[in-house]
Amino acid sequence: MDNLYQKYCHNCGSVIDKQAEICPKCGVRQSNPPKSSTNINVNLNQRWLITIVLCGFLGVFGAHRFYTNHILSGILQLITFGGLGIWWIVDFIFILIGEFKDKEGNYIKM
Ligand SMILES: [Zn+2]
Repeated sequence: MDNLYQKYCHNCGSVIDKQAEICPKCGVRQSNPPKSSTNINVNLNQRWLITIVLCGFLGVFGAHRFYTNHILSGILQLITFGGLGIWWIVDFIFILIGEFKDKEGNYIKM
């Protein structure tokens, strides 16, 4: 479950408020702090960085598309040398401005 406002109690498994320090159902203190959004951002940053580096150096081979699970279009890009460079440039710009999505539809942002 990827909910911003709720989490599971680690003791009884009830869905509780993400900010809750003590589970209202069983009264057990939630020792492990909720995964803060900064962690998620760091992951996304790394992902964005890897994606844009792959695109910059190996973009004509579709490397950034393989990395973001766009396997079919990655192969297409590989055999067309990044759509003769045009597709590659378009992808690079899209990644740069944070408009590039992975196969699951998540934006890959800086
Ligand atoms: Zn509980």
